[in-house]
Amino acid sequence: MSTRYDIIIIGGGPAGLTAATYARRAGKSVLVLEKAAFGGQITWSPKVENFPGDISVTGTELGDRFLEQAMSQGAEVELEEVTALEKTSDGFLIHTDSGTSYSSRTVILATGAKPRMLGLPGEEDFVGNGISFCAVCDGAFYNGKAVAVYGGGNSALQDTLLLSETCSRVYLIHRRSTFRGEAALVDALQARPNVTMMMDTTIKAFQGDGELSSLVLCCSGKEEELPIDGLFVAIGHVPDLKAFAPLLSLDQSGYALSGEDCLTPTPGLFVAGDCRSKSIRQVTTAAADGSVAALAACSYLDAV
Ligand code: NAP
Repeated sequence: MSTRYDIIIIGGGPAGLTAATYARRAGKSVLVLEKAAFGGQITWSPKVENFPGDISVTGTELGDRFLEQAMSQGAEVELEEVTALEKTSDGFLIHTDSGTSYSSRTVILATGAKPRMLGLPGEEDFVGNGISFCAVCDGAFYNGKAVAVYGGGNSALQDTLLLSETCSRVYLIHRRSTFRGEAALVDALQARPNVTMMMDTTIKAFQGDGELSSLVLCCSGKEEELPIDGLFVAIGHVPDLKAFAPLLSLDQSGYALSGEDCLTPTPGLFVAGDCRSKSIRQVTTAAADGSVAALAACSYLDAV
């Protein structure tokens, strides 16, 4: 068993790393456990132009800054996937996939959300073989090729804008006739000659022999095949809280319910960021949750 921490934060995105910075500045010992890459989902954004104080910054740069700031305050970080969280009489035991167990007095869950999948046959096999969830990470594989983006929110619009810079054609497929994302992005896309918007259209099936080669689309009841080299899925996210569910109360969509202080029904267990039940999920609200959860955890620690 390793050191016992005041606060262990599970998830190293904007919420988790902001919580780490605040908790360290309040003098608490802090460990952040992240399973994949520090910085979270925002690292997938090519450009962030609505984070206060930064007129324009890449998502990767912003994520790096959150990490650097938390570490400069003395937060410890580990790349480990948490597989189970156990409540003990005086805190928590956290088990990871490497077989390590960590002990803490409080826990902040900041596990974010993972990309929503379409749920169609063969989809999982095509992930990495033509289906991607990250244009920033995988867009370069499709230089000069024809790709599709599925979705109508800011992620889909931004991905289409980015891909249109290097791909021969980008089909933006959306199930409704209007976009959920910002009008400014829609205007920018309308000015791109290699972008084709396919509205009121859904994907019905994936086709390809090992690699995705075409989509079966449905528009106004008619099916058509669209040959493409790659598909970028951007239809929102779902929370990933299964490992912690016994200690939480979840809303209908699976997000963790908490008070304004980010406290869950389990004493000493807090939740912050996109995995928390709330109406607005932005980097700003994730960072805000992180600060609130950290300060609430500090008050809890000082009171027990
Ligand atoms: P989102 O805003 O929830 O949009 C998801 C899109 O996917 C919607 O257009 C939705 O269609 C569609 N969709 C959902 N389920 C679907 C399904 N099963 N089949 C087909 N289409 C489906 O998700 P997001 O674009 O990932 O954005 C998430 C949050 O992050 C938003 O608040 C967004 O503003 C924010 N964000 C901010 C930035 C930035 O500021 N730099 C960048 C990216 C994202 P309907 O419209 O019909 O519901």
